[in-house]
Amino acid sequence: EQSVKIFTSDKEYPISLIKKRRLDTNKGDYGKVAIIGGNYKMSGAIILALKSALRSGAGLVCGVFPKTILDRVGALVPEAVYFPCEEKHEHIFLDDYCLNILFQKSNAIAFGVGIGNFDELLHPLQYILEHYEGPLVIDADGLNVLSRNKTILKSAKSKVILTPHPGEMSRLTGYDIDYINKNRINVAKSFAKEYNSIVLLKGSSTVVTDGEFIYINRTGNPGMATAGSGDVLTGVLVSLLGQGYSPFEAAILGSFIHGISGDRAYQKHGYGLTAMDLVDNLGFLFKKDI
Ligand code: AMP
Ligand code: MG
Repeated sequence: EQSVKIFTSDKEYPISLIKKRRLDTNKGDYGKVAIIGGNYKMSGAIILALKSALRSGAGLVCGVFPKTILDRVGALVPEAVYFPCEEKHEHIFLDDYCLNILFQKSNAIAFGVGIGNFDELLHPLQYILEHYEGPLVIDADGLNVLSRNKTILKSAKSKVILTPHPGEMSRLTGYDIDYINKNRINVAKSFAKEYNSIVLLKGSSTVVTDGEFIYINRTGNPGMATAGSGDVLTGVLVSLLGQGYSPFEAAILGSFIHGISGDRAYQKHGYGLTAMDLVDNLGFLFKKDI
């Protein structure tokens, strides 16, 4: 029997985390974040994540993706900068040299949205974990790649936020989805503890844990069960990390704000809401008078 310390789940706590802005600031004060992902078949995921990182206040957002999708991403996210890479067999090609350039340019990195689940991506993921000193988010196919050898997490240089839905959690842990859904808190908590990471287990009542404390997010609604919804969350998280929120705070505040954007989108679109509607509603809580 594990003891569970549950944080309050009311809205005052996450809202209290939101940083105020001084008046005399510039984009250099709000982080330089990189999102690594995308492939020819899934360019939407990185577009959503990039837009979402911008809507969550990051100063500079860089998209790192195969150059085959540069026109598409560039047309839809003009506010971002790009780090187009070579493509090999339908996925991004990242060598250690270009990763080191990226490390110097970024104070937070997200890996995985729409990247594809390929064995060849395990090496770059391991290299990032072992060499990058800033905070990391691993999501989507990044988690599926990680499932091929999750022990690489143990050599991570910095704190990692993992954002699995129950299917991804099942691949990571080997438990079936049914078991995970019935034991959400303990499954998330023991994985976070064993791998010294932050786990954000998605779904209705998202569980956020650092292996000791638990925060249960109560915002959001079933309209968010729609393609691309998780990619928006990844953008929020990396953006908050870039702005200096600690990984655990970023995970709590990120899940809260993502759910609020879903609830606002629901007011207008009901269960017809789409992931881009979430992006459009993200900025609501980032205001000076809150
Ligand atoms: P993904 O499966 O990666 O696209 O992520 C889906 C996102 O939507 C996660 O942040 C979930 O927590 C959220 N979501 C999905 N279904 C619901 C639901 N029924 N209630 C609240 N949030 C949900
Ligand atoms: Mg997802």
